[in-house]
Amino acid sequence: MHAIGADLIHTEGAFIKNAAVVIDGDRIVSVASRDEVPPQAELEDWGSVAVVPGSVNAHGHAFQNLFKGFADDRVFASWRDDVLYPFSERLDGNAIYTGALFAFAEALLAGVTTTVDFFYLHDASNDNAKEVIRAAADIGVRLVLARAFYDPLARTSAPARYREPPEDAARRCKELSDEHSGDAMVAVQPAPHSLHAATPDTVGIALDLAAGLGAPCHLHLAEASYERDQVVQRYGATPVRLLAKEGLLSERLVTVHTVWVDEEEIELLADAGAGVVHCPGANAFLGDGIALIPEMLRRGLCVALGPDGGCANNRQSVFEEMRIASLVAKARLTDGSALDAPTAFALGTANGGRLLGLPVGTIAPGQHADLVALDLEDLSLHPLDTIDRQIVHSMQATAIKKVMVGGQGVVQDGRLTRFDLGEVRRRVAEVTKGWARP
Ligand SMILES: [Zn+2]
Repeated sequence: MHAIGADLIHTEGAFIKNAAVVIDGDRIVSVASRDEVPPQAELEDWGSVAVVPGSVNAHGHAFQNLFKGFADDRVFASWRDDVLYPFSERLDGNAIYTGALFAFAEALLAGVTTTVDFFYLHDASNDNAKEVIRAAADIGVRLVLARAFYDPLARTSAPARYREPPEDAARRCKELSDEHSGDAMVAVQPAPHSLHAATPDTVGIALDLAAGLGAPCHLHLAEASYERDQVVQRYGATPVRLLAKEGLLSERLVTVHTVWVDEEEIELLADAGAGVVHCPGANAFLGDGIALIPEMLRRGLCVALGPDGGCANNRQSVFEEMRIASLVAKARLTDGSALDAPTAFALGTANGGRLLGLPVGTIAPGQHADLVALDLEDLSLHPLDTIDRQIVHSMQATAIKKVMVGGQGVVQDGRLTRFDLGEVRRRVAEVTKGWARP
């Protein structure tokens, strides 16, 4: 057992002064004042820092980090058809490992301690997914491998390597999940890709598996207007109404993006207890629109944040997504109070843990010891009396001093402790050698 002392610690939605987090193994035992630390716990003083929960990335595609710059500044069809699909054909297991290392390194340095990788480069096996899991373990980030289901007959031009019969996807997802049962650092969760790449039947198979695993089920939903129109054309109903009609709206469902939905669809999602991952940076980057987050929160939906893939944002910071979420809500509603900093902070931390079904995102007894220490000398956090606002609206990455995952230090003074950044750079250069922007 050990304890970490700090000038400020964030717990129960507010900062307390001169406190300590008591940790046993990979879990938090208590948050106490320094004098209440049990004598058997050795106190490590982190000094002039604010300790906040590690941020939770609830949606991403790590391999896409390799495509940064190649895909930028295009209309969506060109982003997908000229870069995403053809470039993803170039990646072998080693490149997939490298892409994951690259994205996870950026994420950890940005204060992300749990990250979802929604993964679909399957080649009809789990071998590539295992490369992603290996990268997460090597670098020390907590991983949710959202294993995609991508139908063989989906009416898209996506590469064959994404596709497999839903029964095979379910079997492989279950096998991978079983391999990591009891592994606190890796959770495997089913993820039917979207309503353009998975039929309602496939979504049903994935949801059944999720129920069996006691896990959430991730689904891209209504990201772009063309996607909503396509669902209406094929099925005669908008995306959420289609899910409702097919009996697929469930509290296990984690819908990703959820931009092109109306108020009644928000009600349907809320009544079912489904969740939403908001990716405001990616939605803006790709020109997809702005999700109705304040309206969703008012209806009681659980909303978390995701930077999304590296070629759709192109940053891996959830702190950054908090700021963008707040800004785009204010701009859309012409209301400076539309989404305040403490709410945005909760979206990127506590709500992420809730949506993923993991004990992360808050500093409280029983939670994993996933902590980020912010340097109180960093100008971007001042004045310190309003630090709860500065974290969202003003903070720069220079403030992130230490990152701990499961009680283990993984970032110290802007450096990874487990992996050499030079090695990450070397690998990225090797994989992307000779690539040209189309
Ligand atoms: Zn995505």
